[in-house]
Amino acid sequence: MKYEAVIGLEVHVELKTNTKLFCGCRNEFGKKPNTLVCPVCAGMPGTLPRLNKEAVNLAIKAGIGLNCKINKFSRFDRKNYYYPDLPKGYQTTQYEMPLCTDGYIDIGGRKIGIERIHLEEDAGKLIHEEDKTFVDFNRSGVPLIEIVSRPDIRSGEEAALYLKKLRGILLFTGVSDCKMNEGSMRVDVNVSVRPKGLSFFGAKTEIKNINSFQYTQEAIGYEINRHIELYENGKTPENETRRYDEKSKKTYTMRAKEDSSLYMYLPDTELVPLDISEEEIDEIRKKMPLLPEEREKMYVKEHGLSDFDCENILQEVHFAEYFEEAAKLSKDAKNSANLLITQIFSLLESDKVIKIKPLRLAEVSNLMTDEVINSSTAKKLLEKLWEEDFDVENYVKENKLFQINEKDVLSRYIDEAMEENQKIVDDYRKGKKKALKALTGIVMAKTRGRANPRLLNTLLNEKLG
Ligand code: ADP
Ligand code: ZN
Ligand code: MG
Repeated sequence: MKYEAVIGLEVHVELKTNTKLFCGCRNEFGKKPNTLVCPVCAGMPGTLPRLNKEAVNLAIKAGIGLNCKINKFSRFDRKNYYYPDLPKGYQTTQYEMPLCTDGYIDIGGRKIGIERIHLEEDAGKLIHEEDKTFVDFNRSGVPLIEIVSRPDIRSGEEAALYLKKLRGILLFTGVSDCKMNEGSMRVDVNVSVRPKGLSFFGAKTEIKNINSFQYTQEAIGYEINRHIELYENGKTPENETRRYDEKSKKTYTMRAKEDSSLYMYLPDTELVPLDISEEEIDEIRKKMPLLPEEREKMYVKEHGLSDFDCENILQEVHFAEYFEEAAKLSKDAKNSANLLITQIFSLLESDKVIKIKPLRLAEVSNLMTDEVINSSTAKKLLEKLWEEDFDVENYVKENKLFQINEKDVLSRYIDEAMEENQKIVDDYRKGKKKALKALTGIVMAKTRGRANPRLLNTLLNEKLG
């Protein structure tokens, strides 16, 4: 039988606010445990929540970026459960009336529906050490949105595409930093399988908290095959929550799926419902930054960038801003993009900070465009600029790094190289075409990498006959 996979994703994203959702504690990652806590986010009796407007605005931004309807009226509910990282004994979330509904992400021609985006608070974190468990409440009350897709995804590859697009939109709107390694973006996947061509749903399993797009794709692939194998053997997958183990590349049972009725959802009585005006939504809509897709269109149209260039530059907001700044100052923005991707990105460290001013990239690029320097000099300059800032034109003048564009000067270098390397010349004339590359390298070295590569190629070909 032919099968078809049905996949829906639930993605939790921490909002990039200054403070937590219901109190004034700072929203920061990596601080000393339990230093960002107050009676409200510690769930002390008698405290009252106060909604953070910044979080609401970011959630609305996400909704607009994800083509959702922004509901003017929404409400908070209590999801009741007991766990040591949840001091109130319930999570404040939105259940019946979420802030945003009915959106989609276009993953290249196909639209994946978004059922809802709701605003909620994060829980604390348990830290297990040998036979002890500690609890850190710094994360307790950090604002989250949960983005729930419709079961429109059909493969692990599509899931990865969806996540990539989602991350791009959330990054460029400033909603979240989407750092999977710090848990500010967390992915749960729901997978089921059905006979191809039919429209009912098969039994679904859920895989929780996968921490990379790659693993998400792998886990889905594994899970689809597992379901098919069960059906082929006359069995049905259990309705359960599983986890993905990156080493064995398999999923394992964690627990039976909770029924939502167990949570006894109830409207939160301490928070007034959200009542957002059309004007407020319009105000946010007007201030929406350009999304990755719009930027991509602009890069292709105005600067002639390729899909590959766009994909690389649009990985991070500060890469895009850097490129746009350099492009403004460049005579040939495509050349600046090439230098950025091939040279500068190879110098990046794990913090991804670019240690060269956009102006300097443009200066180097412009000297190339004007044929004052060649690409090997450009590379050296960028490596040097990574260490310290300097005026590129002066530096090139002082160090005589000009490209050699004069035919007779370059001819002399070539003659010298040919005389000293008679064997390579003979090899070439005997038909060993690779010898041309060797001679090019020798002349380049003699000129300290300054030869105009096009002229060098022409002259060498002429001289070798
Ligand atoms: P549950 O009540 O089990 O949590 P929901 O209806 O809330 O299920 O859906 C949670 C996620 O699971 C959504 O992203 C949804 O698209 C997805 N989903 C629902 N049904 C299926 C299915 N049969 N196969 C795969 N994904 C599904
Ligand atoms: Zn607090
Ligand atoms: Mg659900």
